[in-house]
Amino acid sequence: MASTNGVRTSNGTLGARYDAVLAATQWKPTQQQSEPTMGNPARVESLYGADVFGERAMRQRLPKDVFKRLMATINEGKPLERDIADVVAAAMKEWSIEKGATHYTHWFQPLTGLTAEKHDALVVPDGNGGLLSDFSGSALVQGEPDASSFPSGGLRATFEARGYTAWDPTSPAFLNRSDAGGVVTLCIPTAFVSWNGQALDKKTPLLRSIEALSEQALRVLRIFGTDEGVSRVTTTLGPEQEYFLIDRSLYFARPDLVTCDRTLFGARPPKGQQLEDHYFGSIPSRVLAYMNEVERELYRMGVPVKTRHNEVAPAQYEIAPVFESANVACDHQMMMMEVLKRVAPRYGLQCILHEKPFKGVNGSGKHNNWSMATDTGVNLLDPRDETHTNMQFLTFVCAVIRAVDLHADLLRASIASAANDHRLGANEAPPAIISIFLGDMLTDIIEQIETGRTRRTIKGGALDLGARALPQIPRDAGDRNRTSPFAFTGNKFEFRAVGSSLTSAWPNTVINTIVAESLDHVATQLERAAGKNPSPQKLQQAVKSVLQKIVKQHKRVIFNGDGYSAEWHAEAKRRGLPNLRDTVEALPVLKQKSTADLFRKYRVLSKSEVESRAHIFFEKFVKQVSIEAEIMVSIARTMLLPAALEHQSRMGEAIGAALAADVDCDDQRAELEKFVRLIGRFRTAINTLETLNDQHVDDPEKHARHIKAKVRPAMDALRELADQLEEQVSADLWPIPSYRELLFIK
Ligand code: ADP
Ligand code: MG
Repeated sequence: MASTNGVRTSNGTLGARYDAVLAATQWKPTQQQSEPTMGNPARVESLYGADVFGERAMRQRLPKDVFKRLMATINEGKPLERDIADVVAAAMKEWSIEKGATHYTHWFQPLTGLTAEKHDALVVPDGNGGLLSDFSGSALVQGEPDASSFPSGGLRATFEARGYTAWDPTSPAFLNRSDAGGVVTLCIPTAFVSWNGQALDKKTPLLRSIEALSEQALRVLRIFGTDEGVSRVTTTLGPEQEYFLIDRSLYFARPDLVTCDRTLFGARPPKGQQLEDHYFGSIPSRVLAYMNEVERELYRMGVPVKTRHNEVAPAQYEIAPVFESANVACDHQMMMMEVLKRVAPRYGLQCILHEKPFKGVNGSGKHNNWSMATDTGVNLLDPRDETHTNMQFLTFVCAVIRAVDLHADLLRASIASAANDHRLGANEAPPAIISIFLGDMLTDIIEQIETGRTRRTIKGGALDLGARALPQIPRDAGDRNRTSPFAFTGNKFEFRAVGSSLTSAWPNTVINTIVAESLDHVATQLERAAGKNPSPQKLQQAVKSVLQKIVKQHKRVIFNGDGYSAEWHAEAKRRGLPNLRDTVEALPVLKQKSTADLFRKYRVLSKSEVESRAHIFFEKFVKQVSIEAEIMVSIARTMLLPAALEHQSRMGEAIGAALAADVDCDDQRAELEKFVRLIGRFRTAINTLETLNDQHVDDPEKHARHIKAKVRPAMDALRELADQLEEQVSADLWPIPSYRELLFIK
């Protein structure tokens, strides 16, 4: 039996790999940390609160040697021994019970895209008037939830439904306080794997991808001789979260919102976002009170939130944390979504995380700010003053450019969902075409690398010039471009196409993996060209030629213009960039052999693990849209149609009254005829959608294609007619709240 972090599995396959991946997630803050300061759980813990069992609580409560050994596991990836687990569990239990906890849960991210938890009591009565502890070291490090109802995409045969949760000591345990009766639960972040070690969750591959990137980035640092004292490179993540808030009583009057988190009907309001008066405007007081409470709860749970403001659309807002190491940031992202939802009802509000809850107004994204940093605190995407570090900076930037160009399709697939389809490619979100915005300054430098010639004369070689020009890059990147899906913003890349309701873990797993592959390529090329310990000149020559080649091959992915414009679509096509318009077009890349090879090479996902994900994502798409179509049919038939018929009778009665009074009303009669025909078309559209949605297709991918080709167009057609009806039917008859009410009652 293998023991990893004290985690024992029946056949040991959770194994060494798990250990190794955990090792890569550590973050040790140092003095040299580059600005802005990264969020650090220990610091947040000491600043705000007592509800995180992080470094501070552990230092206070654990025997010195146990604390040291645990920190060695957390910071250096050393295996955790079982005797420690018992001591830690006891301290964690005491700590949490003191704070009112009654239960603990292994908290994990199954492939549903949500978080899951199964609660167990921390102590139970022993029957003799005493209490029995129910939380041991083994309960801390490993759990066995009944996994049979989580999606596995065929990974787990039904006869072996067991899945294990394994403690991730690098993401601090926290207390979750529910509304009702103040139930307090100790939440322990865990990975979720099958009995034979296959990842059934989103955390495990993320951890593996962080490890893969670290390994390759270290090779590059070694070549530049900047690896001193660096034992690992971690990816950093700061996800900005957009969301809508609407009045909760109105929410309950909309079965579409309640079931699908988006409106399936709704005529455009007279005042949309044309006035642009909401963006960064003053925050309505009810909303501000809500935000305050959200932030307070998040602080207590160790989530370092920082910014809040109104967003572009009416009733749309944003919250952003201080960035953290990617693993912790992804956990915190899930907590953030949960708290946003949970706190809203206390203010009579409903928080909507859907990517496109309202047609015709801006959708919601989750801007994924991503970078790489050494454990000595150096941001590898931050341009520096010294030439050699600038060469290094350019090398990392070019590696990212190459990765995004080579794997644009995979990156696109990583954010594909039924909900995000309504946003990407529509006229207010990043287009579905993946391109990189570099800004004029950096683009200029990249072009100089390509030609190998300098345009301005500054002493030193060509590349030197390019490099020396760099410190002028404004740190806060003066030239912003909201239309680019992947933008360089001074010292990090911002992947803007991520959907507001998605988990951050999967897109970041993909970014880390493709960048790892690219760094591997670069390191290999540089080692070949310059040798192991190159002289500065030799290194400079090698960098110059390797980067030149990369820029030549991959600059097509760089685009600084307007990503929404029709010209860009034509231009992108000419450049051969993929334009995968929706989930159905985007997901098949997951089934390609090259994708499986890539993930396997960097030990992020096995072939069957990727395949299972493709299967689950298609299935989820199918379920989501089918449910939407079903709700549409039901609302249309049982709510909207009766209202329209009632309106028709009123019109008829009015005509009857006019005729009885011998008043000419031909125009009204013509109106009524038109209205009756509209109802006729509406009724037909309901039946058509129902028939198409009821068609049974076996294979999820085929079914998804059917939905794209038939069901979605039928939904659009039905909505179009319903929205026409809404504009005509008497307001007192229309049975669901209008956009005007939903968006402007604050
Ligand atoms: P914006 O102007 O796009 O709203 P900010 O500069 O305030 O953005 O940053 C947005 C997010 O990017 C914040 O969550 C911030 O913590 C994060 N961020 C900043 N630096 C990094 C970095 N090096 N790596 C990852 N995220 C970062
Ligand atoms: Mg941003």
